[in-house]
Amino acid sequence: MSRGIETKCLHLEEDEGLNNNYGAISYPIYQTATYAHLGVGKSTGYDYSRLQNPTREHLEKVVATLENGVDALAVSTGMAAITLMMELFHPGDNLIVDADLYGGSIRLFSNVSRKNGITFSAIDCYREDIESYINEKTKAIYIETPTNPMMNVTDIEELSKIAEKYNLLLIVDNTFLSPYFQNPLDLGADIVVHSGTKYLGGHNDTLAGFLVTNREDISEKLRFLIKTTGSGLAPFDSWLILRGIKTLGIRMEKAQKNAIELANWLKKKSAVKKVIYPGLPEHPGHEIMKKQARGFGAMLTFRLESREYALAILEKVRMIKFAESLGGVETLITYPTTQTHADVPAEIRKRNGITDATLRLSVGIEDVKDLIDELDKVFNEIEGELHG
Ligand SMILES: *Cc1c(COP(=O)(O)O)cnc(C)c1O
Repeated sequence: MSRGIETKCLHLEEDEGLNNNYGAISYPIYQTATYAHLGVGKSTGYDYSRLQNPTREHLEKVVATLENGVDALAVSTGMAAITLMMELFHPGDNLIVDADLYGGSIRLFSNVSRKNGITFSAIDCYREDIESYINEKTKAIYIETPTNPMMNVTDIEELSKIAEKYNLLLIVDNTFLSPYFQNPLDLGADIVVHSGTKYLGGHNDTLAGFLVTNREDISEKLRFLIKTTGSGLAPFDSWLILRGIKTLGIRMEKAQKNAIELANWLKKKSAVKKVIYPGLPEHPGHEIMKKQARGFGAMLTFRLESREYALAILEKVRMIKFAESLGGVETLITYPTTQTHADVPAEIRKRNGITDATLRLSVGIEDVKDLIDELDKVFNEIEGELHG
């Protein structure tokens, strides 16, 4: 019987009863580049840390379990994971990608991958007729759900039926919900991407990335690629992510609880023109998320009445930090226009609905009363300055 995800964050079933590593409860950091052989053909199972390192391997097994995959690869950043994934494709291949993605993914696809002869059809996967974009060159569909930053929700299971029909890979960046709330492989995806920097690490202190798959053939290709390209996660960073994962469940629950309260509080503010949070019943993706995820996460996007108002909030917040990134214990606020999505062409931002009055909150695990107090003070000050 499969264990609950909170238990899987703490215990790797296959290690039990082995008394490895002197019984150490915290997995040791094997800070070594290479490994001695007792004789020709007598490897310990480890030869060189670019190929594999015990600490990284332990982390990979934990993440594979969390996503119900057969294999997970831990690499240096989320972008390194997506770059590694792109090595599965060849010049001439076409990918259908969601139009609203993490800015770094759009930058990678439109600059690096395109230079390598790969083409992209960027569409709104949550509402467009995907089949009409598939041609003989199409090899994969790449999505985020909910998307960054507009929180569009795509039905993964429906999409996987299309992917299967046309023999395409379905790749889902699951960073926003983490395996705690959503498992795309169970819904028919072939590869899951994570920026481990975000909820898995959870403390805004380490960068990491993951590719998880439930297909042996893909695992084999990715293992060859990680060994060859060399972006595997360092032992100490692997250990930090392992430590972060131990509290994934309680962090996600608390952050989500805070996000729901903040979303409802923001909705009552007259200067806030729109609150986009899939946990709100009026969100167009709310019902799909109820079906395919176990929660709504803690990311929310909101639009102010004006650019001035949005900028004033960024100037005035103190406890809430004006910073890129997300998924950590501290609440962060960002301005997608100049930060996460600065390299996305203005017309694409506009098309996706990212205006210069749009802000994105990564809600942390503080006492929600203090988050509301700070925002209340900030809003009142701005009201006085702009409308007083
Ligand atoms: C941050 C992020 C990435 C990139 O991850 P890094 O660890 O910063 O390289 C990819 N996808 C999403 C959805 C992200 O939020």
